[in-house]
Amino acid sequence: MKLTGWGRHPVVEAEERLGEDLAPLTDGAVLSRGLGRSYGDASLPADGVAVGTVNADRILDFDSSTGVLRAEAGLTLHELSRLFWPRGFSSPVLPGTAYITLGGMVAADVHAKNHHRPEGGTIGRYIRRLKMRLADGRVLWTSRAEEPDLFRATVGGMGLTGHVLEVELTLQRIPSAWVYQETERFADLDRYIEGFEKALEWPFTMGWIDCLKRGRSMGRGILYRGRWASVEEAGNRPAPKPLRRKSLPIDLPSGLLNRQTLSVFNFGIYRIHVPKVKRSIVHPETFFHPLDKLLSWNRGYGRRGFTQHQSVIPTREGAKRFLRLLTDLGVASFLCVIKDCGEEGEGILSFPKSGTSIAVDIPVRDRTRADIARLNEQVIAEGGRIYLAKDTFTSAEDYAAMDPRVEEFLRIRRRYDPDCKLRSLQSVRLFGD
Ligand SMILES: Cc1cc2nc3c(=O)[nH]c(=O)nc-3n(C[C@H](O)[C@H](O)[C@H](O)COP(=O)(O)OP(=O)(O)OC[C@H]3O[C@@H](n4cnc5c(N)ncnc54)[C@H](O)[C@@H]3O)c2cc1C
Repeated sequence: MKLTGWGRHPVVEAEERLGEDLAPLTDGAVLSRGLGRSYGDASLPADGVAVGTVNADRILDFDSSTGVLRAEAGLTLHELSRLFWPRGFSSPVLPGTAYITLGGMVAADVHAKNHHRPEGGTIGRYIRRLKMRLADGRVLWTSRAEEPDLFRATVGGMGLTGHVLEVELTLQRIPSAWVYQETERFADLDRYIEGFEKALEWPFTMGWIDCLKRGRSMGRGILYRGRWASVEEAGNRPAPKPLRRKSLPIDLPSGLLNRQTLSVFNFGIYRIHVPKVKRSIVHPETFFHPLDKLLSWNRGYGRRGFTQHQSVIPTREGAKRFLRLLTDLGVASFLCVIKDCGEEGEGILSFPKSGTSIAVDIPVRDRTRADIARLNEQVIAEGGRIYLAKDTFTSAEDYAAMDPRVEEFLRIRRRYDPDCKLRSLQSVRLFGD
């Protein structure tokens, strides 16, 4: 069958084995994959069989006094939230889409709108133990106390250290399942960054910037800040039900989302945001997963697909220089998402570190590889790094220059899988096997 990531590029012919019992299913498989929400080639097997985990989604244990949950790796965040929000618990990390599995969350060590806060961080912080099948066939538990190197390499290790079969994590208690949200419009980059800094006390922040706008309005955008609403603020609203979703039924022609059409879209989003500051109590899906509103929106980029470049840049000045480069290159599409990141997590290849994360969708064109190389050159010059879960085009040399931690990761990977039986297209591209 044809397999792709969310960006629909590249497309590979490969076998995906599906089933409810991951232990036998993963025997001999070269990679596990969840819902394929990583954008590029991270979830695509280099050769051999991949295991699709989505049918292995049972909840195995939950202790309401501690919030500790044990579940199979294919459980989706969407299902977890549907079950636990009304019961006063949430995943402590809620990324931009809920259509991801626990296994995919661990492998990418996902982050979200609360990463900048001391009580935030990546999902790895909340993982207690992982049950895994290794490349040599052994099934074992790993944690900070059991096979600790394996644990650190697996959190953020993009599926290359073994198949995650079960995940034990601690859920967070929430006062209500609704969100108090404020949004504010900023007219240019300097004011936007100032607004961002003032919002650091908020538990959740995220912003959207118009990267197509040049001149004085460059970097204009909308900042979102929020927190779980108190019981009083939620009032007599019932527990939120999953929102009804629409799907894009067809592929739009490649090239339809171009500079002209997207400029109109961006202008519209910015202009309809009146008054300048808005306050409301909103559904948690609207706040945490706004992109899930239109399922399969990735078809909007047509058959050639798209990629995302997400990097973290350590300094504010560096982030501004990077945004100017993005605007000058003219590669960006309508989505340019800005987030603040806090301290680096335990996962050896975990993406976030202190600084500003900038994520931008880029339609695949003939020049895309060269554009990504130019962006990466800037990331390296600024001392930043890219997020593997979004990457499709980065070269091995550039990745090695961004992340000295790779050597330690590869040493541990080889200890547990000397023949590199577990491989993805991404690992072959970046590490040679
Ligand atoms: C619209 C959108 C918004 C997003 N927003 C965010 C965000 O805010 N923050 C963020 O951090 N990420 C974000 N992402 C990225 C997404 O969270 C990650 O790519 C996540 O890994 C996808 O999960 P998945 O289950 O679809 O995994 P897949 O994409 O199928 O796989 C991702 C990686 O995980 C590995 N993997 C999956 N399951 C297992 C398993 N059981 N055992 C071992 N390895 C496994 C795969 O081999 C692969 O390397 C977003 C993606 C989309 C499409």
